[in-house]
Amino acid sequence: FPLLCAFCKTTEDSLSLSLSLYLKSQVTGSFLSHNMKQFWSPNSINKNKAMVENLQSHGVITSDDVAKAMEAVDRGLFVPDPSYAYVDSPLSIGYNVTISAPHMHAMCLQLLDKNLKPGMRVLDVGSGTGYLTACFAVMVGSEGRAIGVEHIPELVASSVKNIETSAAASPLLKQGSLAIHVGDGRQGWAEFAPYDAIHVGAAAPEIPEALIDQLKPGGRLVIPVGNLFQDLQVVDKNSDGLVSIRSETSVRYVPLTSREAQLRGE
Ligand code: SAH
Repeated sequence: FPLLCAFCKTTEDSLSLSLSLYLKSQVTGSFLSHNMKQFWSPNSINKNKAMVENLQSHGVITSDDVAKAMEAVDRGLFVPDPSYAYVDSPLSIGYNVTISAPHMHAMCLQLLDKNLKPGMRVLDVGSGTGYLTACFAVMVGSEGRAIGVEHIPELVASSVKNIETSAAASPLLKQGSLAIHVGDGRQGWAEFAPYDAIHVGAAAPEIPEALIDQLKPGGRLVIPVGNLFQDLQVVDKNSDGLVSIRSETSVRYVPLTSREAQLRGE
């Protein structure tokens, strides 16, 4: 199956375009004419478990640990309008940004699976709704550490509220193995470095040096890189500290940028 655009660069306009295409698709079935690839029809899905099973049946999720984490963390608790929570599409979360589509979250969890074992440390740059940070936290467990960094303070506050409603993730937040901080994620989060896994949820013009520095030997960074044309890059640091980089697929994410530029819609 083709994996194409995973992440709409959503403005209010493109969201309403998405939604109008969505509504139109009920009649015409033409949703796929939009440049987002979907793995199932919006009509067929309204439950988190069914969403995960769809991702498994399409081969996006192959790891049991990833499936368990995505089943445990209900995506419906993290999106502004739960009626669209299980549709395979990015959704606006305000501030000119989106929560990624479920298949994009699943793909990144898969790419990082070996670096998300119990007790490991993970950094989520551009944590937005907190959904993926919560999945990471569930995977690394109470002995591990999952840190989200997000530069919009309002999103940090709402992500903490979202996590508090999740039976799977809220105990980890209370206990301190899961935390979300306000900051410029291009600097990483030095306090808990080095990390076994680093995920970046916004596209960087080039890979920030600080993120490579904060990767543990044996660690992996997954980051969309580019401007108009972007690749999801996988950066591995081997046990000698040597770094190798490969491109996984073409993607479309919102930019990793300054707070001011983002709020201006640049
Ligand atoms: N992965 C999240 C959000 C993805 S959108 C989710 O799926 O819910 C990308 C996020 O990156 C947005 O929340 C945006 O505010 C944030 N972001 C962009 N540039 C940033 C930067 N320099 N530092 C921290 N966060 C940033």
